[in-house]
Amino acid sequence: MASKNSVAADGDDPESQQQTKLKQFFSAGRGFWSDVPDAEWNDFRWQLKHRITTLDQLRRLLPTLTPEEEAGTRLANTKLALAITPYFFNLIDASDENCPIRRQVIPRIEETRTASWEMSDPCGEDEHSPVPGLVHRYPDRVLFLVTDRCASYCRYCTRSRLVSNAAGYDFHPEYDKQLDYIRQHPEVRDVLLSGGDPLLLSDDKLESLLKQLRAIPHVEFLRIGTRIPIFLPQRITPELCAMLKKYHPLFISVHSNHPRELTTEVRDALGRLADAGIPLGNQSVLLKCVNDDAKVLRALFQKLLMCRVRPYYLYQCDLISGSAHLRTSVRHGLEIMEKLRGHTTGYAVPQYVIDAPGGGGKVPISPGYVLSHNNDRVVIRNFEGKVFEYPEAADGTPQSKAGRTLEEPELV
Ligand code: SF4
Repeated sequence: MASKNSVAADGDDPESQQQTKLKQFFSAGRGFWSDVPDAEWNDFRWQLKHRITTLDQLRRLLPTLTPEEEAGTRLANTKLALAITPYFFNLIDASDENCPIRRQVIPRIEETRTASWEMSDPCGEDEHSPVPGLVHRYPDRVLFLVTDRCASYCRYCTRSRLVSNAAGYDFHPEYDKQLDYIRQHPEVRDVLLSGGDPLLLSDDKLESLLKQLRAIPHVEFLRIGTRIPIFLPQRITPELCAMLKKYHPLFISVHSNHPRELTTEVRDALGRLADAGIPLGNQSVLLKCVNDDAKVLRALFQKLLMCRVRPYYLYQCDLISGSAHLRTSVRHGLEIMEKLRGHTTGYAVPQYVIDAPGGGGKVPISPGYVLSHNNDRVVIRNFEGKVFEYPEAADGTPQSKAGRTLEEPELV
């Protein structure tokens, strides 16, 4: 029998230890704000008022600021503003220049370089906007942009033209026109509130919108897309949850990219939403040196399930101007998906999608599990690479007589 010292026991190998560490829940702590009273720290208004928004603050709070970050921050307010809540700032590892949290929110000079294939509106939303602030891209649903503000700004934001107003984009949502459009279009059965972040609206304002949407008979289903539970979990108050639960069926899509974002504060905030009966999904963006590693994403997705959140989409990073330093190849994304599907709970495997450049909508992409397909059979492989065939006819009967030469599986 192998001794304990000669063979690592299950769970003792470095990879398992890394997974265990990534999946632990920690508090973000107080960091530089240890003298702030609890009542203030836990108040989302205090967090918003004390966001880090200037280069001077960054220099003081992050002595390891690199020349690339310093130069990027100088120029940030001409493209996408800098803003980080104190709570989220505490997740940054100041000793690590490549900290995955840091890369998401601290500007870098690379943001000012635009490749010829990058765009300011990569998903073609403006072209599908019948009234200001409303995008009608798919047949039965609309995107309702309610605000241009977020609690913190993600450096790869697809709507950087719009949010933070740094680029001077003339965004003025006109709720009456947006609501009228939905009233006049009975095919719209699903409304996604997004922005900017809808949960930055006051409870009263948000409730007024939800109430008006609920009063439209053909609107069956409401969704809110938000990163507030991750950037500002203090905003998920019992009062907000009590208000939201009056407007079911209401789903919420959160946005997290790295397991370290899932702190005890975030887990509690998500728990409050789940306790209000709100089904929760998560959207992640595949980002270079943030989460482009199957081990990191597996830990994120498993940890989301522990927070009662179903990983829903993994986005290939949109071709937003100045995001090349954060983009991975699709090939690498597919390799990561290959290491997830079958290797962990199906609920922990989101759909990998590309939002087709120019407004084609979301296109699902997956590793090739269908090796060949003809009138007689489908040849498939499983996550271990084992090959199987399945008869094609609906009742399971092969459609041609035995003996017919079948084409060889074309290896994908
Ligand atoms: S929270 Fe969403 S809308 Fe706001 S900056 Fe991040 S990605 Fe953009």
